[in-house]
Amino acid sequence: MDCLFCKIIAKDIPAQVIYEDEHVIAFNDINPQAPLHFLVIPKKHISTLNDITEEDRELLGHMIMTAGKIALNQGVAEDGYRTVFNCNSHGGQTVYHIHLHVLAGKAMGWPPY
Ligand code: IMP
Repeated sequence: MDCLFCKIIAKDIPAQVIYEDEHVIAFNDINPQAPLHFLVIPKKHISTLNDITEEDRELLGHMIMTAGKIALNQGVAEDGYRTVFNCNSHGGQTVYHIHLHVLAGKAMGWPPY
């Protein structure tokens, strides 16, 4: 297993975990791009969004639901937040285990480049 996020899931590498259940784990990004920046990842290893299958439909929904619940708990839901899945090189993906970025605490710009 040579996946950084699988090692975080296995607790082989420390992370600031803010939520965990049977299917997902959420932790603060080590290099935050906003006052609040956390990642929601599935415990199942999936390399990129290109690799999701029909059997992952519920899991992906659960990731998004979890992101929203954490945002609510962290008090940023009303002002709003940005959610991002980066996919492969043009998407800016650097860790090949899918993760949903949640960024909040300031107004985000658009377009994102
Ligand atoms: P990507 O560029 O969309 O693949 O996002 C990967 C994210 O993982 C980046 O925002 C990194 O800062 C973050 N990251 C990398 N290593 C760690 C870590 O060990 N703990 C928490 N976040 C990490």
